[in-house]
Amino acid sequence: MNYNMDDTIAAISTPPGCAGIGKIRISGEDALEIADKVFYSSSTESLKKVESHTIHYGFIRDKNNKDIDEVLALILKAPKSFTAEDTVEFDCHGGSLPLQGVLDAVLSAGARLAEPGEFSKRAFMNGRIDLTQAEGIMDLINSQTEKGRELAVQHLKGGLSDHIKDIREQLMTILAGMEASIDFPEDEVPGFDSDRVNDKINQVIDTLNELIQSSKTGQIFTEGVETVIVGKPNVGKSSLLNYLLKENRAIVTEIPGTTRDIISELVNLGGIPLRITDTAGIRETSDQVEKIGVERTINSLQTADLVLLMLDVSQGISPGDYKIYQEVKDKPIIILVNKTDLSKEIDHNKIEENFPDGRIIYTSVQTGAGLKELEKTIKDEIMAGDVKGGYDQIITRMRHRNLLEKAKVSLELVIEGNKNNIPPDLLSVDLKDALLSLGEITGETVTDNLIDQIFQDFCIGK
Ligand code: GDP
Ligand code: ZN
Repeated sequence: MNYNMDDTIAAISTPPGCAGIGKIRISGEDALEIADKVFYSSSTESLKKVESHTIHYGFIRDKNNKDIDEVLALILKAPKSFTAEDTVEFDCHGGSLPLQGVLDAVLSAGARLAEPGEFSKRAFMNGRIDLTQAEGIMDLINSQTEKGRELAVQHLKGGLSDHIKDIREQLMTILAGMEASIDFPEDEVPGFDSDRVNDKINQVIDTLNELIQSSKTGQIFTEGVETVIVGKPNVGKSSLLNYLLKENRAIVTEIPGTTRDIISELVNLGGIPLRITDTAGIRETSDQVEKIGVERTINSLQTADLVLLMLDVSQGISPGDYKIYQEVKDKPIIILVNKTDLSKEIDHNKIEENFPDGRIIYTSVQTGAGLKELEKTIKDEIMAGDVKGGYDQIITRMRHRNLLEKAKVSLELVIEGNKNNIPPDLLSVDLKDALLSLGEITGETVTDNLIDQIFQDFCIGK
């Protein structure tokens, strides 16, 4: 961290572009003084003298006393602000020129331009929020799914940090018992009973396991189930994707960064977000091109959580279909036999014989037959996997998951050592490691580097 946390900082806190209002946020020791230099009003003499949590109407002027914008000034005195510092927010007109003008005036009056995430970082440094809450704020801003938003709000309210704190307290109690027995000869201290210690640590490991398991659900709720529709040209892949988008229009976003042949869309299937990719599949029938098509398709399947292999019942099964199936049959896969409104060229037995591991569903995207059953089957397939409900807390970040795993490994070492009669002073080293890992989740035991790394992913003005 090479910038000063004592500076008073300012930034535009609303997104670029034209809008009704735009916000400039100023935070720090000199926030009120700086605001006073640029703000004037016929009704408010000095913003330093007004009550906290009040709003004042006036104008912002530059060094040459020229008006820049008409604003409302919101005064939030320390510690009752987001950063826990004196904060002034100017609600300006939302164009980029008025906003930049007001920001420039504030900067020339003595504020420094805030680094990305610096307001949140100050909120963390000043003890207003912990790391999981800060990450929750960022996840909320970036949330792409309803469920993801819901989990982010839970984290920002401190649900996860409370849970982690509980776990840490249980471990602290065990550690206290261990340390007491280090200071006193064995038999005099009833605090250390190795069986009991192991029982308690096993309970904590159970809790950690549950959190670790929840991360698969968390990932799916925040990022979506990666679903790929594969099949020969003309079997009806795009038609199916369009149907799903139309029926489940809750959130539909373009996913940037996908390759030219492949489009991916977010579909909300009864609360489960699916990122559905319609592969270009096998474009031509000539063998050479078919081969390239199959290979490219197979590549896009590597990361899929769910595969919909689509056949056209009025055509046959091709070697390409079978090859794709061979590649993905270990993943959740649904064999979708489409165009049931046309005359059938393949029969059920043949399909079962060729694709023994997949759920087989008959549909006609044209008439709508079987589509509701398909939606239900998709949900069942996902829920039958790693996605489960009923968790107290759901982990959404890899950082948290890795630290939980690390804490678990340390606790398993304590249990092993305990079984092998390793003395408590050595056991306590591993127990302390577990406490450190858990503390890193909430930010109680983090390094400056890590803090910088986490906050630099935030947007400017947050
Ligand atoms: P894709 O190449 O796999 O994406 O296939 P499309 O979705 O573009 O569909 C190819 C053609 O098949 C289009 O003319 C669709 O209208 C038609 N089609 C899609 N589903 C059905 C179906 O269930 N029955 C019939 N008869 N035609 C369908
Ligand atoms: Zn298509």
